[in-house]
Amino acid sequence: MAEYKKSVGDNINQVLDNIKSACKKSGRKPEDVTLIAVSKTKPLPMLQEAYEAGSRNFGENKVQEIMDKYPQLPSDIRWHMIGHLQRNKVKYIIDKVTLIHSVDSLRLAEEISNQAQKKQVDIDILVEVNIAGEESKFGTSREEVFQLVEEIAKLPNIFIKGLMTIAPFVANPEDNRKYFRQIRELSVDIMNKNIDNVTMSVLSMGMTGDYMVAIEEGATMVRVGTGIFGERTYTNTQ
Ligand SMILES: *Cc1c(COP(=O)(O)O)cnc(C)c1O
Repeated sequence: MAEYKKSVGDNINQVLDNIKSACKKSGRKPEDVTLIAVSKTKPLPMLQEAYEAGSRNFGENKVQEIMDKYPQLPSDIRWHMIGHLQRNKVKYIIDKVTLIHSVDSLRLAEEISNQAQKKQVDIDILVEVNIAGEESKFGTSREEVFQLVEEIAKLPNIFIKGLMTIAPFVANPEDNRKYFRQIRELSVDIMNKNIDNVTMSVLSMGMTGDYMVAIEEGATMVRVGTGIFGERTYTNTQ
């Protein structure tokens, strides 16, 4: 396909500039927002380019892909599991990832806790909330999230650091502002319950189409794929 492509490094600088503007607009500090380069389906050389441009946080949504890429890239990369995680695969990534963003059931949290104990590591997680109540999405409902947080908090070796959401796919990012705001309000409500071992310091929300709005509403981690690596092409094996 003959199309003009900017380099991964240029794209990252553009995204970082946008993050700065969104922070300025909302009176926040750019260093309080972590950019996660979502590298799913992308080949190693592109991840290397992002690494050379300064990226140290990468997001993947498949266990197999993390296992393939992990040993081939520098060890100071922080890997984020952002996709739906099956319980039988937790054991493969438990000692490789910095943060699991997609915990939405007690059964999954129990398996993460068990595997963390086995490997003698502590693992940080986020609870994924399906804030718009979309049928097609994973995540706990905003009604169930309180009980889920309280139950996960009792498990050993697993620490809740905040909330994650995947907002609806919309043409106008302003349409998602209310959902980002609701996630932030939910995190404040949870914080006010003072549950042992639970902090709400991380809000993982905002993707290529809407990360600036998410930052204005309090995101501390934005997950950007297309805006850094370009469109993804999926093969039928994925
Ligand atoms: C793919 C993915 C992203 C990145 O999406 P883009 O629109 O390409 O930025 C972010 N979060 C999750 C959970 C994803 O699966």
